[in-house]
Amino acid sequence: MVDRYAVIGNPVEHSKSPLIHAEFARQTGQAMLYERILAPLGGFAGSLKQFRLAGGRGVNVTVPFKEDAYHCATRRTPRATLAQAVNTLKFEDDGSVLGDTTDGLGLVRDIVSNLGVNLRDQRILLMGAGGAARGVIGPLLDQVPASLMLVNRSADRALALCATFPIISAGAYADLAERSFDVVINATASSLNNELPPLPDSVFAPGALAYDMMYGRDTLFMQFARAHGAGLVADGLGMLVEQAAESFLLWRGLRPETEPVLKMFRTA
Ligand code: NDP
Repeated sequence: MVDRYAVIGNPVEHSKSPLIHAEFARQTGQAMLYERILAPLGGFAGSLKQFRLAGGRGVNVTVPFKEDAYHCATRRTPRATLAQAVNTLKFEDDGSVLGDTTDGLGLVRDIVSNLGVNLRDQRILLMGAGGAARGVIGPLLDQVPASLMLVNRSADRALALCATFPIISAGAYADLAERSFDVVINATASSLNNELPPLPDSVFAPGALAYDMMYGRDTLFMQFARAHGAGLVADGLGMLVEQAAESFLLWRGLRPETEPVLKMFRTA
């Protein structure tokens, strides 16, 4: 029987994960199927159970279910425990459900290896306090930036994360007036809704990297960044492919090549 995997989210129809995993499977000769599952809001656990009972071997988890996925795991990797968010679940043969987060590794690999931007000693601004933001804080700090500031629409959610990561600073968008950063990362769901977080015009230091985790379209954040001094503007496609490779490794024990897949998407 062919092993089944899926991405669960809401919305999920935009997800490129099925194409990426099909390509990884072809490249590594793995017999597997990967599908999209639209779970109702508040219905993640039910959709997950249904897929597992139908023979699923593991899932990726996307917006807005990463915190639900954390609670559905019966075991977690240390990085998932730290982030309190899970983007990959593996159904083990002993009945346990392993939760991991590969978003942070994916983001850092894309920024450092694919885009060639060294994060050491950089002033980083991270927007958002949902599952994606929580998953990337640890790996960003591992790069030893000069500082990491977190802002969120509901500022209390950002401030709460300072308890887990005492070396970051956190606040509201209003706290950004007159401040600028070398790297600005949009880990909010704003681009999904064609919205722009309320950033001040001065937020980008000259030549800064502006990184939107959203992919597949030129977002309002990317347009704002180009108009306000960013030197390099990137979407989240590279992160998506890199985090997918880490999930594939967890499920199948093989790490696929990401470069040909990224090239395929960029030229499509
Ligand atoms: P969550 O639903 O967990 O969190 C959403 C976050 O976005 C919250 O912090 C929320 O703030 C904030 N937000 C939503 N709308 C706005 C807005 N209009 N202005 C400002 N802030 C807003 O989602 P995830 O963290 O799972 O995902 C966030 C985004 O990252 C999604 O677009 C997702 O597609 C993308 N992503 C991409 C990946 C990739 O590989 N490229 C990997 C992971 C995520 P509040 O707390 O106030 O509600």
